[in-house]
Amino acid sequence: MAQLLDGKAVSKVLKEEIQQEVAQWKEKGVNPKLAVILVGDDPASVVYAKSKQKVSENLGIAFELFTMPGDTPEAEVLGLIERLNQDKNVHGIMIELPLPKHISKETVMKAVLPEKDVDGVHPINRGYILSGEEGLFPATPQSCIELMLRSGVEISGKHVVIVGRGETVGKPLVFLILKHNATVTICHSRTPDLGAFTRQADIVVAAVGKAKLVKKDMIKPGAIVVDAGINETEDGICGDVDFEAVKEVAGMISPVPGGVGSLTTALIMKNVLKGIKLQGVGK
Ligand code: NAP
Repeated sequence: MAQLLDGKAVSKVLKEEIQQEVAQWKEKGVNPKLAVILVGDDPASVVYAKSKQKVSENLGIAFELFTMPGDTPEAEVLGLIERLNQDKNVHGIMIELPLPKHISKETVMKAVLPEKDVDGVHPINRGYILSGEEGLFPATPQSCIELMLRSGVEISGKHVVIVGRGETVGKPLVFLILKHNATVTICHSRTPDLGAFTRQADIVVAAVGKAKLVKKDMIKPGAIVVDAGINETEDGICGDVDFEAVKEVAGMISPVPGGVGSLTTALIMKNVLKGIKLQGVGK
């Protein structure tokens, strides 16, 4: 039976570290602050924004939510971003997705100052992932890595098979994992015989968005299985891995919920603190 990669336990430790760092910044007279922009009233986005507010405030990070009606012109959203870019008291900026159709996601993402881009979506931060330089990187791929490292998994030298090459999880994860000296294989929807690849893996990371896609017979006995998927089904939320069956063969496995997703909000807050340093605050 696989050992659990316990996202809630790791998140608790991470949050304690963040609280300590926040206290240190406050002693230096810096009050870390995250600004979140919500355009329209997409119900899931409202829930995500409120959840960030709760975590942020629990960690001592100031939070401001800017809500704008769904028909707000793009120029007005860009105007707000520019104001927040200039505001020395704001250290992180996030725009909840999806945006209304008349607003270009790409334009909005490029408008955020890279040093305040806590979602890690600005092309400059995407470039830093490739070059290996310090930048702000997306929370979910970072969660996959933190969950493994903080659970004692050695990534270096391992063969990691990533299932999914999406912009938010799979693709950035490739370069973050490479930095940890793993050998990486990337699979996607055009990969014939997915199992032939995943069975070779010491570590499988699933980032697809298809409930229970990864089956027991696709996993090498003792392998580590990290599930970044979130799927809403009739039976509730589940991951991309057939957890109940795969846990019989894997060495370690992350549950959904309670795995990768438990760390993401904390890692956004960690990005706020990293942003403060990148902005040269307090120097
Ligand atoms: P995405 O952009 O839709 O990418 C999905 C990837 O899966 C694509 O590369 C796609 O291949 C591949 N794929 C689809 N069907 C496949 C199949 N049958 N076999 C192999 N690969 C297949 O998704 P994403 O935004 O990266 O998100 C991936 C998952 O992570 C989703 O479940 C999402 O909900 C979850 N997620 C979780 C968090 C969290 O906090 N835990 C945050 C963000 C996202 P092609 O490229 O060929 O189309």
